[in-house]
Amino acid sequence: MVFWGFPYLLNTATREVHYLPAKTEQCGISRMKRKNKQYLCRNSFDRLVIDLYGSDLEINGCRHCLSKHDTD
Ligand SMILES: [Zn+2]
Repeated sequence: MVFWGFPYLLNTATREVHYLPAKTEQCGISRMKRKNKQYLCRNSFDRLVIDLYGSDLEINGCRHCLSKHDTD
């Protein structure tokens, strides 16, 4: 698993993003479907946050591992 090149994992079904170096059991990553997993490098993640800010598709950080971006 390449954490450091692509440390963010976007669940494309829920729009929730996990930060893999801080992931916990509660993240449920092992229960995510493979087709819903999109790995993001830091630059891609930063760009998504900026592009989607304030839109319906705004990034929702996982409350367990990316609480800085948690929106619900
Ligand atoms: Zn998480």
